[in-house]
Amino acid sequence: MEAIAANILLEGLAVNALAQCETPVTLVTTDSREVCPGCIFVAFPGEKFDGHDFAAKALENGALCVVLNHPVEGVPEEKSVICPDSYHAMMVLGANYRSQFHPKVVGVTGSVGKTTTKQMTYAAIAGFGSTIKTEGNQNNELGLPRTMFRIGKETQYAVVEMGMSHAGEIERLSKCARPDVGIITCIGVSHIGNLGSQENICKAKLEICAGLPEGAPLVLNGDDPFLRKAVLPDHVRPVWFSLGDENADVCALSIQQDEKGMSFVLEDHEEGTFLVKIPAMGRHNVANALAAYCAATRLGLNARRVIAGLADFEQTGMRQKVVHVRGVDVIEDCYNANPDSMKAALAMFREYPCKRRFALLGDMLELGDISRAAHEEVGRQAVENKVDYLVTYGEQAKRIAVVAAAKGLPTLHADTYAQAAEALLNKMQPGDALLVKASRGMALEKVLEIFYKE
Ligand code: ATP
Ligand code: MG
Repeated sequence: MEAIAANILLEGLAVNALAQCETPVTLVTTDSREVCPGCIFVAFPGEKFDGHDFAAKALENGALCVVLNHPVEGVPEEKSVICPDSYHAMMVLGANYRSQFHPKVVGVTGSVGKTTTKQMTYAAIAGFGSTIKTEGNQNNELGLPRTMFRIGKETQYAVVEMGMSHAGEIERLSKCARPDVGIITCIGVSHIGNLGSQENICKAKLEICAGLPEGAPLVLNGDDPFLRKAVLPDHVRPVWFSLGDENADVCALSIQQDEKGMSFVLEDHEEGTFLVKIPAMGRHNVANALAAYCAATRLGLNARRVIAGLADFEQTGMRQKVVHVRGVDVIEDCYNANPDSMKAALAMFREYPCKRRFALLGDMLELGDISRAAHEEVGRQAVENKVDYLVTYGEQAKRIAVVAAAKGLPTLHADTYAQAAEALLNKMQPGDALLVKASRGMALEKVLEIFYKE
């Protein structure tokens, strides 16, 4: 973070003497252990610790002021900034900070593929100048402002992920990050319990437009029926990408998969035709790469260099990592799962070159009313995508097993991690491949720990 005068950072928050204070602030932190002289400490009412209990100490340790939900005894009023919602406070601080700099910002939202697309966009852009990106999956009202504070004078580009679980969140995130280009990867079913319908999910993603300036490119998945039907605000310029539809602004043709990733011909109505290779498997990753390409080139960056950059893309954190063990290929995709990503992973697996396909699938959590039907659909998809042997784990995943077994797919429903590992160890032979996917909470990597150790 660069030093910014307190009055600039606190604009819209402080109503006391701090509103006039020009002392430079060098850090905004929510962690009392990080407090240093001249910082702003934002107290969060956490589950284990309440930041408000550390406010007085933060001032003792040199904090310029503390942001609190309510006045705290022993904390002087003139050093307190009262804001009932700590997330809102962080967003205001982040937005005020961001407005002091002029990097080109790409904002990425969508139901699935945000982190992957963010990583790909970063790979596409980073060669052109100093670039920052959201770390890990810090895509919410805390992670986004934290990303803003990493912008500096030298920063030329920033690629930021924007996640949501309720209407209104993307609008707030977008107004904070003020992207120059927006991306919506696709409209799925995550958080449908909160939003009510996919049309509403689509509207919520389109809130990204609220932070886009006049004439800004908005990169959209042309193969997504909800985005296709959506009414877009006049101030954005849609850039449509598609797998196969040559009417789109940018399309991928002749898509091929091997164990190293995807190759395809990219046709861009503006820039020409290129051969593209990306080190990630699955048609869904072609879509992510097209989104990244569109964002980078519509910022004015050279198409050939953007494509060269895409080849350096790196998957992060348990997303589609291929591990070779005892002649078996294990595709670890245990980062997370929902109906859309499960479908994409199984479609990718179908094209994976191997003798026999084994799938270890666990619960997709937080699906509410649609859970049973969604798991049953995965059972059907496992069969359609030519899985040869299925192991399931988890209460919900039983429905995957029941449907798959009824369709003749050899299936075992395991009650423990050890049982799942044992089945795989007994059945798998060199040349076989294993896809592992479930929601994060299922911790399927524990099966792999046993599987790898044997
Ligand atoms: P989160 O909501 O957890 O932040 P995300 O939107 O960032 O998720 P990623 O982490 O990029 O999504 O991908 C999660 C999983 O979704 C991947 O492991 C992959 O299986 C699948 N996936 C990635 N991109 C797509 C896509 N465009 N369409 C469908 N599935 C996808
Ligand atoms: Mg993510």
